Amino acid sequence: MKDLKSHTIREFCRGVVECRICGLKFAPDLEEDREAHELQHMRIIWGAMPYDVREFIKLAAWGVLHDTRGPATEETKREQETAKRAIVFAWWARAVAKGIPENHLEAFMAAHLAHLDAELSCNQDQIDEAEELMAPWNKYG
Ligand SMILES: [Zn+2]
Repeated sequence: MKDLKSHTIREFCRGVVECRICGLKFAPDLEEDREAHELQHMRIIWGAMPYDVREFIKLAAWGVLHDTRGPATEETKREQETAKRAIVFAWWARAVAKGIPENHLEAFMAAHLAHLDAELSCNQDQIDEAEELMAPWNKYG
């Protein structure tokens, strides 16, 4: 059987490798680099996502939300709702990487969904209300 690391670790340059799971570039010969790499994987196990993966998900989701071509059908409304959830999950993954306690999931999601709905509504009262809901979570942004 082929070594699993051959699928996940690839040469980057001069003794530095890149992990295809977490995206970290590190020197496997250095203990502190190996420990930093293990920490990245622990964060992923706990629910975090690598930065570039989060950004990719958000970019794709924003593309769906800003695509106003064609009529608003039930299908496009469902896709837009999924896009909102994708963005909020990416924000949650960032908060997890910054140590948010997991029991804050529902309040965090509620505030961020309200924030996203408000931003898309362009309604200033709704935006102001959502900003109040967001205040406790800004430290994880
Ligand atoms: Zn990794």
